Amino acid sequence: MALVPCPECGWNVSSKATACPQCGYPLQMEPIIQPLPDPGDLRQWEGEVGRTLVFLAVGQITGVVYGSDVYTSDSPLATVAVHAGILQPGETGLVRVYMVPPLPSYHGTTRNGIRSLEWETPWHGAYRVERG
Ligand SMILES: [Zn+2]
Repeated sequence: MALVPCPECGWNVSSKATACPQCGYPLQMEPIIQPLPDPGDLRQWEGEVGRTLVFLAVGQITGVVYGSDVYTSDSPLATVAVHAGILQPGETGLVRVYMVPPLPSYHGTTRNGIRSLEWETPWHGAYRVERG
C-alpha cells in the first residue's frame, strides 16, 4: 500500500484513504462514478428532475427517438447517444444523462445519420445527454 503525504499537514496517508486521519483533509475530491448498464430508455427515472446518471452504452441506429437536445424519456439511450454525437454506431462509451423538466413539445431533427421525430404534445419525462 502506497503512502502519500497529506497536502495539508504532511502526515503520511494511504493512497486509498478518502481523508487524512490526522487532520481530516479530503484526499479524493472526485467521487468514483460507477457507470450503470444501458437501461434501454429513461422511463424509470421520470419525475427525478435534476438527477444525473452515467451509463455504459453501445451506440445504435435502430429505435425511435423523439426530440433534439432534450429527448422524451422513452427514447432509447443508445440511439439518442448517436443522434447527439456522443457515440458512433457500435461504439461503446460513457453517456451522462441529466433528467430535466418535461417540455410542452419535442422537436425532431436529423443529426449524425439519425432522424428523430416530433412529439407535439406534452410528455411527462425528459432528459439531456453529454459525453460521460
Ligand atoms: Zn492531514
